[in-house]
Amino acid sequence: MSVINLKAGETLVIKASRVWRGTPEPPREALVYLQDGKVAAFSTGDQTGGYKRNDPVKEPMNVLELPGCTVIPGLIDCHVHLALDGRDFSRARQQWTARGELLERVKADLTNTLERGIVAVRDGGDRAGIGLEVKQLVITGRLAGPLVLACGHALHRQGKYGSFLGPGLTPAELEKAVDSLARQGVDHLKVLVSGIVSFSQYGRVDAPQFTRDELQRIVYRARSRGLRIMAHASGDDAVRLAVEAGVDSIEHGYFISEESLHRMAARGIAWVPTVIPVAGQVRGKWRVQYTAREVEVITRTWRRQVEMIKKALEMGVTLGVGTDAGATGVCHGQGFLEELLLYRKAGLSPADILLAATRNGAAILGLEHLLGRIEPGRPAFLVAVEGNPWEDISTLAKVKYVFRPADFPGKKLPEKYNSLQPERCFMRLI
Ligand SMILES: [Zn+2]
Repeated sequence: MSVINLKAGETLVIKASRVWRGTPEPPREALVYLQDGKVAAFSTGDQTGGYKRNDPVKEPMNVLELPGCTVIPGLIDCHVHLALDGRDFSRARQQWTARGELLERVKADLTNTLERGIVAVRDGGDRAGIGLEVKQLVITGRLAGPLVLACGHALHRQGKYGSFLGPGLTPAELEKAVDSLARQGVDHLKVLVSGIVSFSQYGRVDAPQFTRDELQRIVYRARSRGLRIMAHASGDDAVRLAVEAGVDSIEHGYFISEESLHRMAARGIAWVPTVIPVAGQVRGKWRVQYTAREVEVITRTWRRQVEMIKKALEMGVTLGVGTDAGATGVCHGQGFLEELLLYRKAGLSPADILLAATRNGAAILGLEHLLGRIEPGRPAFLVAVEGNPWEDISTLAKVKYVFRPADFPGKKLPEKYNSLQPERCFMRLI
């Protein structure tokens, strides 16, 4: 596995057996021309983009031959917590005040993420502001990693679930909290609409933390600051509230109803179902901490989630892939393919899974103009895997190269990436 940082002035031609461009079309044999960290052109047998196949390329170019490999757009994890490591919750939290150890751990987790072909992650927040700090460390080139979109603190109700994700808020403090996060330069907001799902009683979830009116105030303020909102919602009551308030994505959504999915499809609200943090509890070493009854509850819970994923796809909901990496049992990087294999269990085709992991992820992050497709002019965030993921999604385990522009993280992302169209905001508030 190698990460290739494409420097300004450098050119490279990738000759792989197949290129999948992030569209519903299957992969084809093609050449991809990279220049200055961007996709300059691609060419196939009967379709050309930029270069004609027989045109002599003027300047000498390095050629990378990748027989048997498929080149795809970089993968996107829509839900991670960089402040946590997925192995030991208390130790990870202790490291928040032990800088040296924390940075070593984060560095390793960012490497694990990037080496699995994940080129961008959306962080779901932490009380210590670590996700936001890691974003800065990556942008300034002090840590190598995927692009990090961060939210700083998650918004939650005082005295309710989520104290490790941010300080609890009273209803009077909501606007102030949004303004403060906006000033810190966050990329989006995370709101905890509910608590978590029970592992001992099937179908039980904590009650919503906010009223519809309070959530709408948060959404309205976020819109005025140009910020999107990812809403942590377990249980259909919380999902319904979040959908009515007009958030951009529902995170988790355990016990979501078909009716809520219909509304989400109609309003263009995405779903990031995060199955692995539940399914992973009853696998390997984690299973022993649960009673037989709890194992049964957890198993029924994730199986229901998987069934709803298939329904969501059929109803036209935009499905993203989020791992909740950092949550107990979900390691950064590694959790992504585990989540994809659960999508396969849901009955999704490799094509649908690939689209969720690339194109949809880019849209959920608001980076659809930069990520998720291989197209001339776009920054070259690409992955070469051995085999053909269009036929077998598990080939994503065999990442051979990750390509990315060397100087991209040093550049500020274009304004467009977190500003929404006013009409769209209006639609969402209805
Ligand atoms: Zn989360």
